[in-house]
Amino acid sequence: MMIMNGRRAIDLSSKTRSVRIEDIGAQLEVRRHPGARRLTLRVSRTRRAVIVTLPVQCDLDEAGSFLNRHMDWVRARLDSLPNHIPFEDSASMPLRGVPHTISFTGSTRSRLISIDKRPQRTAIIVPGDKDLAAKRLTRWLLEEAKRDLTVSVEKFARPLSLQAKRIAVRDQTSRWGSCSTTGGLSFSWRLILAPSFVLDYVAAHEVAHLVEMNHGPRFWALVKKICPEFESAKEWLQVLGPDLHRYGPARGN
Ligand SMILES: [Zn+2]
Repeated sequence: MMIMNGRRAIDLSSKTRSVRIEDIGAQLEVRRHPGARRLTLRVSRTRRAVIVTLPVQCDLDEAGSFLNRHMDWVRARLDSLPNHIPFEDSASMPLRGVPHTISFTGSTRSRLISIDKRPQRTAIIVPGDKDLAAKRLTRWLLEEAKRDLTVSVEKFARPLSLQAKRIAVRDQTSRWGSCSTTGGLSFSWRLILAPSFVLDYVAAHEVAHLVEMNHGPRFWALVKKICPEFESAKEWLQVLGPDLHRYGPARGN
């Protein structure tokens, strides 16, 4: 399968390959799927990626020409996505639902990230080397998310005499949270960008999975019992959740 990346042709030949196509500013992922009956093409809104799924017996060249034939559609889909907002000096980002200005100071006096809460300008102050500031900010947000989620999980689990085995916070794009069969909970760090009642709901949802490993009526009854305002949080995630995926460090390769 040959894809043109600028003037360079890229050969995709193994099972799953991921490559950045500079022409369209997106990642291309090729997946072979035993269950796939035909070639499919979709654009992931959260990851700004073009995903081609092909049946096992499908020829890669066929997939390549399929993609090339549909390039206009792919471009249109990518153009319709909201812009990525990279973490950089003076950019605006939400933290716990409140807009903050990012300030990369470059100061080496202190390395601690802090919040400046002046009434006219709420800012996240990131000192240290400016080149590394976006990465440090991401790491800090991950730690903040873990701290809030740990408190929230405990708040919901304790009255039920439950305890999560582990709480992991990751850069996951497909789900806001998940619960493993062994009782480990994992969450997306981007929940720290959302208002606290939204983060709380996702924590309550996963705690409820420690009791009910399904989305049946008993599960939702338990969610409602421990987190009565869950409907508004669910709606918030449906409407505004995708927006949280716009924020992050600049997208590299
Ligand atoms: Zn669930």
